[in-house]
Amino acid sequence: MPLQTLSSESPDSTQRLHLLMQLLQTLDNGLILLDENYNVQLWNSFMENHSGIPISDARDRNLFELFPDLPRSWLTRKIDSVFKLQSRAFCTWEEHPRLFDFKSTRPLTGHSDKMYQNVTLIPLHGLNNTVSQVCLLIYDVTEIATRKKELEAANDTLKLVSRTDKLTDVFNRGFWEECLEQEFLRCKRSQRPASLIMFDIDHFKTFNDTHGHQAGDEVLRVVGRLLKRFRRSTDTAGRYGGEEFGIILPETHIDQALVYAERLRKKLSDTVIEWEEKSLRVTISLGISTLNPDMNAYQEWIEKSDQALYLAKKAGRNQSHANRS
Ligand code: GH3
Ligand code: MG
Ligand code: MG
Repeated sequence: MPLQTLSSESPDSTQRLHLLMQLLQTLDNGLILLDENYNVQLWNSFMENHSGIPISDARDRNLFELFPDLPRSWLTRKIDSVFKLQSRAFCTWEEHPRLFDFKSTRPLTGHSDKMYQNVTLIPLHGLNNTVSQVCLLIYDVTEIATRKKELEAANDTLKLVSRTDKLTDVFNRGFWEECLEQEFLRCKRSQRPASLIMFDIDHFKTFNDTHGHQAGDEVLRVVGRLLKRFRRSTDTAGRYGGEEFGIILPETHIDQALVYAERLRKKLSDTVIEWEEKSLRVTISLGISTLNPDMNAYQEWIEKSDQALYLAKKAGRNQSHANRS
C-alpha cells in the first residue's frame, strides 16, 4: 500500500509514525540510529535478528560496548566526520570485509557463512537543523563479495596456468624470460650479484629413439619435479626449450652457483626413472655465468651461460662449466 494512502487513511501522526516504524522493521538491511556519544537510539529487526539483542536491551547502550570487536578508533572518526561535515560516509566490504560479525542470511555452498557488509553513514537533522543523530545502514553484500573473490581466485589460477609449462610444471619460457629480464635490470641497478645456470639433457635424442618419446616425456617431468624440490625459494626455474632449462640464482656468486649446479647434476644422475619396468637414468650438462655490468641486455647473459654449456658438452657431457670471462 503506498505511503500516501496510508497517511490519508490515518491522519493521526502517532499512527503514521507507528506505520513507518513497521516499514523500517521490514527492511532487509540493518539500520542503527546513534547519538553523538555512539549510544544506540534505535535499531531494526535485521539488527535484532543478527546480533541477538532486542532493541529494548540495546537502547541507550554504547555501540562499542555492544560490539567490542568493532574497529573503534576508525569508526568513531568516521561517525564524528558525519556529525561534523553533515554529509554521508561509506565503508565498503573491501575496506572492512565484516564490520559487524554477523552470519550471512544467504550462505553460499562451500563458502564461509560470515556476512560481508557495505555500510553507509547518513546524517539525520533534528528540528533545529543540526545533525542530532547518525544512521548506519548495513547492506548484506555476501553474494557480490563471494563472487568477486571467486573471480579473483580463478584469475590467479589462470595467470599461473599461463605461466607454467604443462609437461614439467616449472615456468614456461615466456614467463621465465620475463623474470630473467627483471632480475637483470634489478641487479644492474643495485650492482648485486646473480648467477644464471642453463642446462640441457645429454643425448636426449638417442634416449627418445631408444626408449620412446613417452619415456622422454617422463624424464622431463622428473627433471621438473627435481627442479621444484631442489631450488631455493628465491631461485626461478623455467623450461627454456625442448630439453633445455634455466635457473636464475639471485644474490649468488659464480662459485656458489657452481656448487649448486654440481649438486643438481649429481642428484639427477643418481635418480632412477622407472618406466615400463625399466630403470632409466639421464645426465645433464650445465653452463654457469654471472651477470656482468657491461652487458646491455639479458640475452647476453643467456648467451654467456650457453657458451659454458657448450664447453661442458664438448668436454664430454655430464659436467658443469663456469664462464668467468
Ligand atoms: P646433446 O647431448 O648434445 O644435448 O644431444 P641431444 O640428443 O640431447 O640434443 P639434440 O638437440 O640433438 O636433441 C634434443 C632432443 O630432445 C630431440 C627432441 O626430440 C627431444 N625433445 C625436445 N622436446 C621434447 C619433449 O617435449 N619430449 C620428448 N620426449 N623429447 C623432447
Ligand atoms: Mg640435449
Ligand atoms: Mg638441446
